Amino acid sequence: MKCQRCQTKLHPHYNFCPVCGVPAKPACSNCRKEVQAEWVNCPYCGANLKAPPNPAVTRR
Ligand SMILES: [Zn+2]
Ligand SMILES: [Zn+2]
Repeated sequence: MKCQRCQTKLHPHYNFCPVCGVPAKPACSNCRKEVQAEWVNCPYCGANLKAPPNPAVTRR
């Protein structure tokens, strides 16, 4: 596993990158629970983890 920002190799038990300090594991921006990188929605609160930068695109 590598840091998402600086690509430093991280041990699996690291919670933060020792080089740049970003969280080693992705977390839900809404409820802060740990999530998997491939998940689209947070299973805890239902928040969209891959929210598009332009929300106007989603339209019924
Ligand atoms: Zn880093
Ligand atoms: Zn959540």
